[in-house]
Amino acid sequence: MNDNGFASYELREELLLALKKKGFSIPTPVQEKVLALENFETDLIVRAKTGSGKTLAFLLPLLQNMDLPQSSPRILVLSPTRELAQQTAREAEWLSRYMDISVATLVGGLDMSTQIRSLKDGAVIVVGTPGRTLDHVNRGTLRADGIHSVILDEGDHMLDMGFRDELEGILDALPQRERTWLFSATMPREVRELSKKYLSAPVSISLVEDG
Ligand code: ADP
Ligand code: MG
Repeated sequence: MNDNGFASYELREELLLALKKKGFSIPTPVQEKVLALENFETDLIVRAKTGSGKTLAFLLPLLQNMDLPQSSPRILVLSPTRELAQQTAREAEWLSRYMDISVATLVGGLDMSTQIRSLKDGAVIVVGTPGRTLDHVNRGTLRADGIHSVILDEGDHMLDMGFRDELEGILDALPQRERTWLFSATMPREVRELSKKYLSAPVSISLVEDG
């Protein structure tokens, strides 16, 4: 691996092994920027285009800093569509394959009882669409109190799709969260408003020209 590769970051062996197995050796620019942060305790706004590797940009530092073992939800990723949620869950699965943590996917149109079982079985990473995730929060099937990291992925698309109330409902139910990271390709007014309300002193990273 060369000097710019994942091996030059202080990543745990389990993550380096998973990356190697997948054949990923060099971080993308957004991954580089996030991994270079001095600490991961702050809130974060990241602007980068589709296809730039944002999923690993949040999963790598979150998994790097996770104490093990864990057996209840710690990380919640909110995605605009079922397909994107499932894609992110698959990425979380291969990346965490050597870490003995499991992933639950909470999306509409799929069996509720399967989702409840995966939560009961100890899912640590939860990836969901806003509507179905809020449903689980309201039913008490998603235990919110242990979730320390919330990722709002594709924030602009989630708001475009009309999920503002659901996002607010979920965020209001997670007052104990330690970090809220917003990923968005664009920052229209609605996204700025949401970030003002729910992020505190966020660090901004932008990989877009007008950012
Ligand atoms: P975004 O969320 O910015 O649209 P993704 O996180 O979905 O982008 O990544 C796009 C694709 O690039 C995915 O197939 C992902 O597995 C791949 N990918 C991400 N990071 C790397 C990397 N460092 N090296 C090679 N492929 C990568
Ligand atoms: Mg993405």
